[in-house]
Parts: sequence; C-alpha cells; structure tokens
Amino acid sequence: SKSAGRNCFTVYDEAMSAELEARNTLEGDLRDAIARCQLEVHYQPFVDALSGERRGFEALVRWRHPTRGLIPPDQFIALAEETGLIVPLGEFVLRRACADAAGWPAELMIAVNLSPIQFKEAELFDMICAALADSGLPPQRLEIEITESVLLERGSENHAFMERLKQLGVELALDDFGTGYSSLSYLTAFPFDKIKIDKSFIRNLTQQPRSSAIISSIVTLARGLDMSVTAEGVETPEEFDRLKALGVNFAQGYLFGRPHPIERILFDAPVKSSR
Ligand code: C2E
Ligand code: CA
Ligand code: CA
Ligand code: CA
Repeated sequence: SKSAGRNCFTVYDEAMSAELEARNTLEGDLRDAIARCQLEVHYQPFVDALSGERRGFEALVRWRHPTRGLIPPDQFIALAEETGLIVPLGEFVLRRACADAAGWPAELMIAVNLSPIQFKEAELFDMICAALADSGLPPQRLEIEITESVLLERGSENHAFMERLKQLGVELALDDFGTGYSSLSYLTAFPFDKIKIDKSFIRNLTQQPRSSAIISSIVTLARGLDMSVTAEGVETPEEFDRLKALGVNFAQGYLFGRPHPIERILFDAPVKSSR
C-alpha cells in the first residue's frame, strides 16, 4: 500500500541520514587528522626470496584517532578518495616515507602506494620530485605501487606519466595483481618493474593446486617481460617454500614482519654493499 511504502521510505531515509552524518563526522575528523598530523606511516619489510635478506619496506598509513585508537587504512582510504582528502594524505605519506627512508641503509627501497585519484592531479609529478629533493632520497630507492584501475582510465595520459617516473629512476610496481581486470596486455603496455601478486592467491596456495598454477604462469610471464614478482601476504614457512620453488623474487608478509612504526624498525646487522 501507499502508506507502507511511505513508511519504508522514511525508515530508509533515516538510516541514510544517520549514515551520512557518521560519514560527515568521519570526513571532518580525517580533515583534522591530516591538519594535526594524526596520521602515521608504518613500515612492513619485504625480502629477497633467495637470500631471505631484507630489501626494503612498504609504507602503510594509519590514523591515530584521539578517541577511537589506531584506525587501519581500509576504514578511511575509500572515504579519503571520495572526498579528495587522499591528495593531501598521499602527499603526507610520500614525504614522510621518503624522509624516513633517506636515513636507512642505502640498499633499502621504500615502496609507497599511490591512489588512482592522485593520478588525476596535474601536480603529482612535481610533488614526487619535490618529495625526493626535499628528503635527499635518490629516486632509484623509491618504488611507486599502483593498482591496475589506473591503467584502465586515461590510459595514455597515465602511460606518459609512468614513463616520466621511469626516466627519473623511480621503480614501478603493479599492486594487487590478479584481483581486477588484469588483462595481460596491460603488462606489456606499461613500464612496470615489478608485479605484486595479491595475497588472496597466497592464502590458499598450499591447498589449491590452481593457485600454484596461476603463480607459476605469472612468474613465467614476468620473466619474459623482464619484471620481477613479489608475493604478498606470506604468513607461513610452507607458503614461503612453495613460493621460492615457484620462482618468486620477493616476499612480503607477517612471516617476515608486520607493519611497524619507524621507532620499532631495527637495522641490526649492517647491510652489506655489493660494491
Ligand atoms: P596493500 O597495498 O595491498 O597493502 C598490503 C596490506 O596487506 C596491508 O594492509 C598489510 O598490513 C597487509 N598484510 C601484510 N602482510 C600480511 C599477511 O601476511 N597477511 C595478511 N592477512 N595481511 C597482510 P593495511 O596496512 O591494512 O592496508 C590496506 C590497504 O590500504 C593497502 O593494501 C592499500 O591498498 C591501502 N593503503 C595503505 N596505505 C596507503 C597509502 O598510504 N596510500 C594509499 N593510497 N593506500 C594505502
Ligand atoms: Ca601496496
Ligand atoms: Ca597489495
Ligand atoms: Ca628495476
């Protein structure tokens, strides 16, 4: 009936406005958090699969909320992208990560995630150059992680942008590989140095023969394209053994360390230089 319909609508409407209000609060809080430096960058190591040596860290943002504690990125990155706050947030993370990494042993890379939304900013290239110059970090030590959605939209513009980053010496990694629209043709068309296989493939690696087959073919493909392969989300020695046998170049996951604040990262053994 008409009135039931109206009731339904009212309930829906109230639920919506409550959700909107919560969102607005969160958005305001996030805006403040960026302004008041309540965002933190944590670092998770990745290792060379053959030697087991640490090769670098991925920068992962966290929000230290005054009342809600430490909030993981899954709870605010989407909102930051919808509201455009990802632009100042992303700049903060990149600058912090470059500044921190500049003080690490020179062999260690720093990998930073870029949102597709940041790619729409004309100033992104200049911002990256400024972050490198201000921190003194050599471009060769910076790796930018992007997801394949960047390759679908505005393909040619983004391609040109990536070529400029390569010219500068920055490394490019394709993140979360296997979760999206991954047409293999993207891989050949864009200048990636590295493919990061999504952790969903590693999760059921030891039970699912199919996952091994997929990883094995990604490794073969990457070799043919002169790219390296990272497996993310490696949690057990069994998974790591399997991945080594499959020819993966780098591994990242709780087995080698969780993301930690800079204060908790130890550079115990002096890192040997190959030269
Ligand atoms: P991601 O880029 O795929 O990062 C890897 C995620 O996997 C991280 O989650 C990390 O903590 C988690 N992880 C690492 N090893 C393991 C493991 O062994 N097992 C399991 N189950 N998980 C593992 P986190 O830190 O919660 O970040 C989630 C996502 O948020 C990231 O996924 C990335 O897409 C996004 N993100 C984080 N920091 C930034 C940032 O600064 N900028 C942008 N644009 N996105 C970010
Ligand atoms: Ca990543
Ligand atoms: Ca990933
Ligand atoms: Ca390279």
